[in-house]
Amino acid sequence: MHLLYPMIFVLMMMPAGLSSGRSAAGRDDEFRERAHRLSREVLIVDTHIDVPERLHGKIVDISVRTPDGDFDYVRAKSGGLDAIFAAVFVPSILEGRGKAKAYADSMVDLVHSCAARWPDHFALVNSPADVVRLAPTGKVLLAMGMENGAAIEGTLANVRYFYDRGIRYITLAHSRNNHICDSSYDPDRKWNGLSPFGVQLIAEMNRCGMMIDVSHVSDSTFYQVIRLSSAPVVATHSSCRAFTPGFERNMSDEMIKALAAGGGVIHVNFGSAFLNDEARRQPERMRRDIDRFLKQRGLKKDDPAVKKYKEEYLKEHPQVYADVADVAKHIDHVAKLVGVAHVGIGSDFDGLGDSLPTGLKDVSQYPNLIAELLKLGYSEEDIRKVCGENTLRVWEEVDRCSSVAKEP
Ligand SMILES: [Zn+2]
Repeated sequence: MHLLYPMIFVLMMMPAGLSSGRSAAGRDDEFRERAHRLSREVLIVDTHIDVPERLHGKIVDISVRTPDGDFDYVRAKSGGLDAIFAAVFVPSILEGRGKAKAYADSMVDLVHSCAARWPDHFALVNSPADVVRLAPTGKVLLAMGMENGAAIEGTLANVRYFYDRGIRYITLAHSRNNHICDSSYDPDRKWNGLSPFGVQLIAEMNRCGMMIDVSHVSDSTFYQVIRLSSAPVVATHSSCRAFTPGFERNMSDEMIKALAAGGGVIHVNFGSAFLNDEARRQPERMRRDIDRFLKQRGLKKDDPAVKKYKEEYLKEHPQVYADVADVAKHIDHVAKLVGVAHVGIGSDFDGLGDSLPTGLKDVSQYPNLIAELLKLGYSEEDIRKVCGENTLRVWEEVDRCSSVAKEP
């Protein structure tokens, strides 16, 4: 008895892998290898990549490795990426000026032109069946989502118009309130949720089989959408507010539960500030300190002294980055809360600037995320769901709920 206790204690203190003769590094290698293999075997669908905005007015050849940006064909293939929703982003400033629809059209044209210019590398897709059918070709498949309903311009028929142009989801608002609803980023709550037009729009989106994206909207908008929509709803690039208290752009546990109860899927955003509270607060603190510096010295924002102050500031308070493990933590949070069937990937690549997590800096690095999920004990079946199957399922379901006959 006497001797047994120390022995048990030693065994308990040993990491699990060591007791079976394998080092932690060896286990990590094993996870990485499995993750690379899986990234090739499973469908990876990312619901939000801002490559159209990156190419708008400055087209670059994304069929080859590009020196900047987060997305191109070469890196997509090395990361195992099969399909993306290219974000047809409409700046909030265009709301109500009669220019938003034309801007959205020019972005749709741009996505079409990518598929036409590089037909061996990219193909447009309009349905989950297209994704499944074309994934084996090795092309990176381009679906489209419109980020900001401003381009609807108060005309319900524009939902069908954009559907026919290939748009499959509409993010109801962006950084400001619009004629549809309130935005999470806008302190002014003009409608306390949806506008009367927004209420009609939800029914029209359901009728056309257009997915409703609740990323960016205010909480009251979200709950109204959930009450009104007859089809499941998606968040295409939002993370969990449980990790970033008070950040309305992310979804609270109650919202995630309501989304999942209706069959919806939250796709986790990779932005460091979406994932990690310290990464979110640090730029806020810096902005506040810069404002104080400006006020104290009576300087304008473009004064050279401000640039120097910012450089010095960042030396003392380096930028905080989340880690790829944080993305896995958010996915796991959703899975534990509502089940693994309700979570997917919505990176926001090409839309986040220099705020991507360590280990997840571009589309070549999805295998690192898969490795983190393997470390958390996720089965291959669950990884398939998170990486793409959940997205295709909800897309199909929204399609099925639609009562409009589709052309073949
Ligand atoms: Zn966004």
